[in-house]
Amino acid sequence: MSSHSTPANEKTTLPPHKILYVETDRVSCDGGGGVLGHPKVYYDLNENGEAHCFYCCAHFIKKP
Ligand SMILES: [Zn+2]
Repeated sequence: MSSHSTPANEKTTLPPHKILYVETDRVSCDGGGGVLGHPKVYYDLNENGEAHCFYCCAHFIKKP
């Protein structure tokens, strides 16, 4: 008999991060405007081709 498994990973502490796929090594983010908007900032992708916005938690991933 297999044990009854219940998905209990529903954490609602943090909103899902935006993931934005980009094609360049340098990205800009302004939060998309609205209540989540913030001053426009630029980020350089790291060696893994990723960047993270400190304002709005957007996550940038370079397309392969
Ligand atoms: Zn941002």
